[in-house]
Amino acid sequence: MVIVMAPGATQADIDSVVDTVRSAGGEAFVSRGVSRTIVGLVGDVDRFSALNLRSRSGVSDVVRISVPYKLVSREHHRERSQVLVGGVPVGGSAVTLIAGPCSVETPEQTLAAARMARAAGASILRGGAFKPRTSPYAFQGLGEAGLKILADVRQEVGLPVVTEVVDPASVDLVASYADMLQVGTRNMQNFALLQAVGSAGKPVLLKRGMNATIQEWLMAAEYIAQRGNLDIVLCERGIRTFETATRNTLDISAVPVVQRLSHLPVIIDPSHSGGHRDLVLPLTRAALAVGADGVIVDVHPDPASALCDGDQALAGRDIADLADVMTTMPAMLGRTLAPAPEQAAAGV
Ligand code: PEP
Ligand code: MN
Repeated sequence: MVIVMAPGATQADIDSVVDTVRSAGGEAFVSRGVSRTIVGLVGDVDRFSALNLRSRSGVSDVVRISVPYKLVSREHHRERSQVLVGGVPVGGSAVTLIAGPCSVETPEQTLAAARMARAAGASILRGGAFKPRTSPYAFQGLGEAGLKILADVRQEVGLPVVTEVVDPASVDLVASYADMLQVGTRNMQNFALLQAVGSAGKPVLLKRGMNATIQEWLMAAEYIAQRGNLDIVLCERGIRTFETATRNTLDISAVPVVQRLSHLPVIIDPSHSGGHRDLVLPLTRAALAVGADGVIVDVHPDPASALCDGDQALAGRDIADLADVMTTMPAMLGRTLAPAPEQAAAGV
């Protein structure tokens, strides 16, 4: 059962609901989103029904949810959610381009990639400082030094930053630099990490596990929501199939399926799914056409020298082509490209 609080509900209203549920032997988890707070109840549903919580001050609705992912489900929240990342919208009528290097390598490389991202129409910068690599001998990322580079580049270029966090112990550190925390495919079911990012007070980009069903993915999102954070963006980044011609198989149907099941925004990663730069623009067009709320794209000033995933990084002429897609396609679909923060402030 989920209690949807009214937009004007006070902290005292919320506390009163939580206290009532607890005194009835239940547990209540408060989750805050951009526009509303919801309280998920765990325990005896019939007993909760008898509490007549709907009549409480500040309560907008009380909903019984039939699916196991309650807080992120669309059953209790028909409208699709919008998440703000450093003021940049993801979801709603916006289509958001997130772009940047796979890994932060040097200040110069990161700054150049961020300028490419902006030129392509991006309003959020991506870049990994902690890299979850399949091989222990591969470049593992610069760690905190990489976070500092991202913070400097944010200052210079004006784009909020999303970067990956790979273990619960470094969540506070990463959250102190980043505007959004990324949980990667290999960590989608790292439940301690999901709980930690749920408590970190920053929006979360949750990538789909490469072997995960959509239900498992939504349950992972529920772990984050249950810890109080509804500012979650889902990212389809390709799944493992028998096909070897692409790095992963982009499950394009995941977008409308997730949008039917959940109110959370969903974006696509055409770089990590296709695994090759030639596929990034076609998959981006497919992502926008199917209704994705955005794309996250790897770019690099010199892909041949990239320490990670150079084959899939856009460069040179590709940036103008991506900009062309991002300026023309959203309008055809009745949507608008999310502007970068200063442009938004200037009303451009
Ligand atoms: C990434 O975005 O840098 C990344 C490692 O992605 P994924 O977790 O989807 O492989
Ligand atoms: Mn990568």
